[in-house]
Amino acid sequence: MSDDRADDALAAEVLTTSITAYAVIDDDGNVVLGNPAATTLGVVRAGLPDPRIAEAAARAAVSDEPVDVEIGPPGPAPAGRGRPSAVHAVARSMGGGLVVVAAVDESAAQRVEAVRRDFVANVSHELKTPVSAIALLAEAVLDGADDPEMVHAFARKLITESTRLGTLVNELIALSRLQGAEPLTDLSVVEIDAVVAEAVNRVASSADRAQIELTTDEPSGLLVLGDRTLLVTALTNLLENAVNYSPDRSGVSVSRRAHDAMVEIAVTDRGIGILPEHHGRVFERFFRVDPARSRATGGTGLGLAIVKHVAANHGGRATVWSRPGTGSTFTLAVPQLPASPSSGNPSSGDPSSGNPSSDDPSSESPPPAAVAARKPVSVPDQAAQDRGEQ
Ligand code: ADP
Repeated sequence: MSDDRADDALAAEVLTTSITAYAVIDDDGNVVLGNPAATTLGVVRAGLPDPRIAEAAARAAVSDEPVDVEIGPPGPAPAGRGRPSAVHAVARSMGGGLVVVAAVDESAAQRVEAVRRDFVANVSHELKTPVSAIALLAEAVLDGADDPEMVHAFARKLITESTRLGTLVNELIALSRLQGAEPLTDLSVVEIDAVVAEAVNRVASSADRAQIELTTDEPSGLLVLGDRTLLVTALTNLLENAVNYSPDRSGVSVSRRAHDAMVEIAVTDRGIGILPEHHGRVFERFFRVDPARSRATGGTGLGLAIVKHVAANHGGRATVWSRPGTGSTFTLAVPQLPASPSSGNPSSGDPSSGNPSSDDPSSESPPPAAVAARKPVSVPDQAAQDRGEQ
């Protein structure tokens, strides 16, 4: 084969495999050359140029400038599976009555843009609510300046709303950091038992207010490589939800185990539960099954999105098992760090070591009853001590 022939074969191969669509259209509007992507992207349909492409080609033929055209959503041809929803094409005259059209699939970029717009709209709405409330309450304080009781009541509400605003802003910052492409920095060896203890401690007083007994299994000695602060935040979010969506005087338990090279921390409640059709959505930003209930508990709708991203950034996952009226188990799983053999640490690769619930074969979705609560946590809360409880 001569060099020229080899070059032709190479060019044909490049054209055939290119994800950019190419079509050459003559001055009669016929497609004289089209690669497979031209058909996939709908530039060429049944051997003819898409009418919008034909029109752009006709204009480009008599112009020195390239002509841009958007095609999609899919035009007259029936939309097939995986059909792009947005295609950007540029038609350019090649001289001699020929026009070359190059087109790229912009569906993914368009979807990302739609998600971004949606997010900005949601954030604006979420911020507007407490900001408007704060403005109204401040006016009410001014109006009621002569009535100390009213001032006191409105000031308390002001604190609630500004706390809500602060929480929302903090969670948005946390989420945007987690969603950034940056890999986690400052990874260190994290003791899961310390994460559990700290998260439990953080929710102890709200659990106590609702007389919810928080129980945990025995310390496991399990280790992961991660960001301790983020893991504590994620587990705290799960525990706060378990408390918020449970009736007073019920129980919430935390258990941990090693399973399939992952450390799983499960939070189980006997609360209101979640309908199956919502299981896939609860980890979405701002999704709430019952917005009124979420707001009443100071929820932002971002807690589980943060959990999901913390898990993902650690190379792990967050899952839910739930049944309305029975309760829920949310599980945070992150890759286990095997302890060095010399350390004598009980987490050294033995899934059953030091972990009472590790014989449970269902890793993803243990029903609440399967996650045994072992030991009541001592709650360092004055009110609990006053009542003579742990
Ligand atoms: P929120 O701030 O509203 O709690 P989350 O992202 O933490 O936001 O949770 C999203 C939604 O998932 C909640 O509004 C609630 O409807 C549901 N949910 C989360 N955890 C539980 C749970 N343990 N029991 C029942 N529903 C829950």
